[in-house]
Amino acid sequence: MGVCAPLTSDLQNATKSELCSAFIIVRSAQMANIKSSDQFFPESHLPQIDDFMPFKQVYATLHRENRSGFFLRRAGQPSRYVNAIDLAGDLVKPKVTISDLEELSTTPIGQVLEKPGFDKFSVPIGMTVEADANTTSLTEASAKIFRVQEFGRGVGWFLHSTFLNTTTGRPVWLCSNPHVQHENADFDSGRCSRCPYSLSGVKQQKP
Ligand SMILES: [Zn+2]
Repeated sequence: MGVCAPLTSDLQNATKSELCSAFIIVRSAQMANIKSSDQFFPESHLPQIDDFMPFKQVYATLHRENRSGFFLRRAGQPSRYVNAIDLAGDLVKPKVTISDLEELSTTPIGQVLEKPGFDKFSVPIGMTVEADANTTSLTEASAKIFRVQEFGRGVGWFLHSTFLNTTTGRPVWLCSNPHVQHENADFDSGRCSRCPYSLSGVKQQKP
């Protein structure tokens, strides 16, 4: 503002180079806008999932929407961002019993995330920021996820770079069959849909 105000009041006398440098200042301010950052995602891009939704249904949603991360909603409000692919990789491993997988499939996702040591798979949402704010302050902030608003309305999210891999690519379940590790779209009850073996892993299928 300090640069623009005197310039516009005396615009006719401004030299070409003064106008040019003013243009550069305005242009760089626009480029720093959060919405033009590759760490910005519009509201509809990332799913919001209620904490009472069962594990298998959560991952069916992610598979359908081609995402590996989501916002956990508590009492109808987004409260944390979850790295769903890392969470799944920690839970579904070789040697996990079929009865544990069966139990997991129907456990509400909010309850799964409350297990001791599972804090590392999600982060709380930081303060709400304006869309025209500078991204530098956000990349240096301690919070990793920010809600972005414009004209008082939520327009999307600014994600820390460590979460960018979760914004696309669906989770696919692998069975423990030693001959052929079938790929499963659905976690179901923890058993492969194509053979009698249990599920023993997950991979992220990129488009
Ligand atoms: Zn199989």
